[in-house]
Amino acid sequence: MTIAAGALQQLHRIHRQLTDLREQLARGPKQVQAGEINVKRCENEISQAKDNYCKSRIASDEKQLQLKQRELRINDLQAKLNACSSNREYQALKEQIAADKTANSVLSDEILEGLLKLDELQALINSSTENLQKAKDELQKVRDRVSSQQQGLESELARVLQELADAESALPEDFKREYQRITRVRGEQAMAQVDGEVCGGCYQLLTPQMMNDLYLLKPLFCKSCGCLLYLAEDVLNKRRK
Ligand SMILES: [Zn+2]
Repeated sequence: MTIAAGALQQLHRIHRQLTDLREQLARGPKQVQAGEINVKRCENEISQAKDNYCKSRIASDEKQLQLKQRELRINDLQAKLNACSSNREYQALKEQIAADKTANSVLSDEILEGLLKLDELQALINSSTENLQKAKDELQKVRDRVSSQQQGLESELARVLQELADAESALPEDFKREYQRITRVRGEQAMAQVDGEVCGGCYQLLTPQMMNDLYLLKPLFCKSCGCLLYLAEDVLNKRRK
């Protein structure tokens, strides 16, 4: 049994093309998925920023309320101080007023800090919103590109599969079953072109007997890696001359 010169080389080329097309087809949905993850991440960022803003706003309002209440108390104490008759009470009120004023001065600083933080958080919400829009636009572009690419790739895949079926139909029937069994499992990895006198799949040196069989176009599998071996057409042509 012999295989037509160049037939296995052609089949190997077709298998490599199929691998490449299938990889390209798988890449598209992954790119879309990456875009969707990015949009989701931006949405989470915004919701986190808004949540932080709300909490900081509430804390800031509480502090401002506390500040006002203490100011009222200071006024109250001040009035009592003015009306006070005993020296001991006067001292106590004075100390109380001083303590409240110190506490309010600390609180004022905290409120100011809180307001600055609110500005920062608002800026973060704004930039996150811009980022989300960019991510959404980008996702749409990727979706459009992928969907037009997929159509082209699908029809190219159908064409190459037909080419494969045509090339396989020319193989001897006995050999075809074995060939299909290994190519179904290993795809392009099932075949290897001989490089010099070495298997292109595992770089094992082939015996002179094996080389001879290959020149005689007999179907031959590498004893080491199991690849279906073949000689390149130009190598066969050179030998024939
Ligand atoms: Zn090998």
